[in-house]
Amino acid sequence: MSTVPTTYTELLSAVDAGARAPRAVPVHDPATEELIGYAPQLDEDDLGRVVATARQAQREWSARSEADRCELLVPAAEAIERATEPLAELLSREQGKPLNGPNARFEVGGCSAWTRATAGFELGEEVVVDDGQTRATLTYRPIGVVGAISPWNWPMMISIWQIAPSLRMGNTVVIKPSEHTPLSVLALVYVLNSVLPEGVLQVVPGGPQLGAAISRHEGIDKIMFTGSTATGRKIVEASAPTLKRLTMELGGNDAGIVLEDADLEAIAEGLFWGAFINTGQTCAALKRLYVPDALYEPVCRALTEFARSQPMGIGLEEQNVLGPLQNSAQYDVVDRLVRAAVEDGARVLLGGNPDAERPGFFYPTTLVADIDPENPLVVQEQFGPALPIIRYSDLEWAIEQANALDVGLGASVWSSDPARAREVAARIEAGTVWINGHGGIDPRIPFGGIKSSGFGVEFGVEGLKHVAVPQVING
Ligand code: NAD
Repeated sequence: MSTVPTTYTELLSAVDAGARAPRAVPVHDPATEELIGYAPQLDEDDLGRVVATARQAQREWSARSEADRCELLVPAAEAIERATEPLAELLSREQGKPLNGPNARFEVGGCSAWTRATAGFELGEEVVVDDGQTRATLTYRPIGVVGAISPWNWPMMISIWQIAPSLRMGNTVVIKPSEHTPLSVLALVYVLNSVLPEGVLQVVPGGPQLGAAISRHEGIDKIMFTGSTATGRKIVEASAPTLKRLTMELGGNDAGIVLEDADLEAIAEGLFWGAFINTGQTCAALKRLYVPDALYEPVCRALTEFARSQPMGIGLEEQNVLGPLQNSAQYDVVDRLVRAAVEDGARVLLGGNPDAERPGFFYPTTLVADIDPENPLVVQEQFGPALPIIRYSDLEWAIEQANALDVGLGASVWSSDPARAREVAARIEAGTVWINGHGGIDPRIPFGGIKSSGFGVEFGVEGLKHVAVPQVING
């Protein structure tokens, strides 16, 4: 057990491996390209030792009552709260997201909120049949060791979504952060381990090879994965011989459909943040917007006006609400897709002109109108600050377009008529369809994708069931 660091320097020194540590890799700030620190890199032998510890710890952890485990999650949430500022600063430096806006402080706040909420859900024994002749009950037992593999866009929050329910249900956790954001997850785990028993939660920093080793490992019973669809497929294949349980939260290309009766004044800000939260690097962000003829120019104008007023810059500067892309590969994806749109004759309303001299991976807030519905910026996931706005005359066509891709994470319908909006929402193939908003999540409400966006859900009581195995007692 350790004490909770309350300054950035204390927190960084707790997780920084130092330049001379074996296999240490430097971590740079995507806004300034300055060195932040060094992350250790574990290999397959290290993983073997970590999994052995996790299996050992799981016996004692699962023998505790669920109520006991829930009770421990409350001080874990409090530890995160005490370390909010240093955690947010490290997250901002490493991921690039600003401290303010729906960004670093918001993400750390989400970590404590999710931990607390997860401790509070009711999941008791369910009596399935009790008719005088048959009595059957259903309960949920721990699975064993959960291998969690997380991405770089919301590194702390997505990790807590994997960790908190797994621990509550009596599993122990081995988590591998993205190679792009290892320090954020090392720091979060360090803070949580100030209250958790030894061996219950361990972090294994490393790259794709270590992820692949987790997917194959015989001592791991369940994988919770959040990342790209391509990697998800590899994990499904690699985990097949050991028949691991899987939760796959994969990529998306969420459509938003504005209906003709939408109140533009009321929705402009929601449309903007639906698309540009975390500078567009969000799985369930609005990634293609369909607008009817009658509202097309007013929506383009309102979005452009709002977008202009939202400052982008270095995350630690308090006025900023948009930041850089987290890494150069993602910058290149956004740049390539916007170029493809421009070459195809689309109209750039804002942005699209990155400053090559500026340090860091800043891509300006970009809005693209009059774009072909088949353009790559529409049909591929941009995962960055560039939104295509597609004109439509026929709502049936817009619904078809929303459903045309093989992904189905989120979607949204924007209208002043809730009943009509719900009717349209029910026809969209996505795990969640929001009305007059996009991407809002809540620890009580299940969240997950369909089609190539994955399977299994997180959050709420349903999420707890996905990190457990059902047991029926009949008789
Ligand atoms: P990624 O798939 O490249 O990496 C995710 C994690 O997988 C990293 O930790 C990486 O090291 C690991 N990994 C890579 N190759 C592996 C392998 N062969 N076996 C096991 N692990 C491996 O994804 P990313 O670029 O970090 O994240 C962006 C993607 O994630 C986007 O497509 C986005 O839509 C998706 N995403 C989905 C959700 C969701 O809830 N559905 C949330 C956030 C991000």
